[in-house]
Amino acid sequence: MGSKKIISIANQKGGVGKTTTAINLGAALAVRGQRVLIIDLDPQGNASTGLGISRDERRKTVYDLLLGQDSASSLARPTDVENLSIIPANMDLSSADSELMATARRVVHLRNALHHRESDFDFILIDCPPSLNLLTINAFVASDTVIVPLQAEFFALEGLSQLLLTVREVRETANADLRIEGIVLTMFDRRNNLCQQVEEDARSNLGDLVFETMIPRNVRLSEAPSYAMPVLNYDPTSRGALAYKALASEVMSRNSASQVPENV
Ligand code: ADP
Ligand code: MG
Repeated sequence: MGSKKIISIANQKGGVGKTTTAINLGAALAVRGQRVLIIDLDPQGNASTGLGISRDERRKTVYDLLLGQDSASSLARPTDVENLSIIPANMDLSSADSELMATARRVVHLRNALHHRESDFDFILIDCPPSLNLLTINAFVASDTVIVPLQAEFFALEGLSQLLLTVREVRETANADLRIEGIVLTMFDRRNNLCQQVEEDARSNLGDLVFETMIPRNVRLSEAPSYAMPVLNYDPTSRGALAYKALASEVMSRNSASQVPENV
């Protein structure tokens, strides 16, 4: 059978926890025995670095998946975490946006490359760049669902409406089946009134689209990448690790839930 689910992790804002979520949700799913592939779709390559893929191990990258002939299985690198693989990125990807623009069917490259779902993964998590550019559109067209990490801060919800509009446009044009998996509040601090206000606003406006799990601000999460490991390995009992495990449980239970279209 094919991969169960392809999930884009997206927010056009930088620094909101996309890469942290890709790495640690991926690791938490892998620990549960799911075969997970992370696709690093950001030229900065933070997910690749955070999982210990050194620069000189990146001769073949996601660029070759998007604009070359290489298959996902051949590009996937194992990580130190069992069941967790990654297709790395490097700066080559920064020219991909304009190169895709010059091609005929510019939004379907990634979908076509992942089309062979007979591949070896239960979950594919795509770590998107901080932009609603053609790379992100390619990710949305290739995906079943989108997870949006939302940093609990003042303008968080404003950026979200632009993102949801883009999801809607992709549904209308290139991928009618695209759904929102959920919105996850990140860097959450219960003692901070503003965080509580953002949570209240998000839950009252977006209801069930907001994951129950919130990711706390936790220094272990920011330290783990410099040791080239997910927080589950770096400090398994940290609040960050527990939160990403809880998020993985929610994603797994949504995975088996009904296919009813979300009203994004
Ligand atoms: P993005 O991929 O959206 O740009 P990152 O996941 O790279 O965001 O996170 C931005 C920075 O914040 C990184 O230095 C990361 O280690 C840190 N960070 C992310 N989530 C948390 C968290 N829950 N607690 C503490 N630091 C975090
Ligand atoms: Mg990132």
